[in-house]
Amino acid sequence: MKVLITEKKHLHEDSIELLKKKGFELDFSEPDLSGVKLEDYDVLLIRTYTKVDKGVLNRAKKLKAVIRAGVGLDNIDVEECKKRDIRIYHSPGSNANAVASHTVALIFAVLRKIAKADKHVREGKWDREEFLSHELDDKVIGIVGFGAIGKLVAKKLSGFDVDFLAYDPYLTKEQIEDAEEAKRRVKKLDDLHELIRKSDIITIHVPLMPETRYIIGEKEFKIMKPHAILINTSRGGVVDEKALIEYLKKDKLYGAGLDVFEEEPPKNRELLELHNVVLTPHTAAMTEQAHRNMSVQAVESFLKDFKA
Ligand code: NAD
Repeated sequence: MKVLITEKKHLHEDSIELLKKKGFELDFSEPDLSGVKLEDYDVLLIRTYTKVDKGVLNRAKKLKAVIRAGVGLDNIDVEECKKRDIRIYHSPGSNANAVASHTVALIFAVLRKIAKADKHVREGKWDREEFLSHELDDKVIGIVGFGAIGKLVAKKLSGFDVDFLAYDPYLTKEQIEDAEEAKRRVKKLDDLHELIRKSDIITIHVPLMPETRYIIGEKEFKIMKPHAILINTSRGGVVDEKALIEYLKKDKLYGAGLDVFEEEPPKNRELLELHNVVLTPHTAAMTEQAHRNMSVQAVESFLKDFKA
């Protein structure tokens, strides 16, 4: 069987070794598949930037499986794969710990103005009064999407004196409120807008799907507390970036921490020049541990079903 690996530099070498050892024939390409003879391949091994859409599937006539080293499947036309009996393998939960820790880092970076302070000191300044900030204790943290990552964010922050609200219509009250990670300090809300109105920090952990696109948009920004913080480590498309920029520009929010963007890398100067936003280049899952887990877990689940 022939496997096309499209994002080699973002995959852990152990996952490629696993396929080699099992006798699969491997080829490599860039994520842009436009010039590739896709009809030669039985399997695609991809990360984040390869789009497996209907056009790609039409050309990949022999394709039997897509291995996506990572969690979100928004770069794959899942419905179309189902119709064509193409199996999809990914690695749910493999990077949850890394992303949850990064979310916590972003919360503190925004709350305590860490990035701005770093720049300030490097510029030879020492205006400490500019950095009067807030503590996390006594805040209400609203978690949108209480899956692997959302739960771990609650777990990691539960040492602080904070309250948690969670909105996840696919989980029962018990699944949320009795979750081991949350130590029973989370209250499930059935109304996203209630969570938004009541939270000081809102952190998004939903997959990008038609129903979650712009789940945080103009209407939601309008009802946020004036000092609210928005953290997005899920996907750029879940937040209306234009509306976010408007609210940040007018200081109607305390700040935002973003690891993901509508366009990556982000080119919008308005966003890049804002003083109250902390940006990271989609690196929430980029730890040694998660990097290996993501690649190896997805390949191992593929190997349970396929032989060379
Ligand atoms: P998960 O599947 O464990 O959890 C997602 C949760 O969202 C589920 O509990 C689901 O019920 C809930 N959900 C679905 N639709 C919803 C809606 N409309 N409103 C509220 N909740 C909804 O996934 P996870 O491992 O926690 O990851 C969440 C997302 O984070 C992924 O889909 C991916 O897009 C993103 N992610 C980003 C990075 C990064 O590098 N920044 C890395 C990993 C994952």
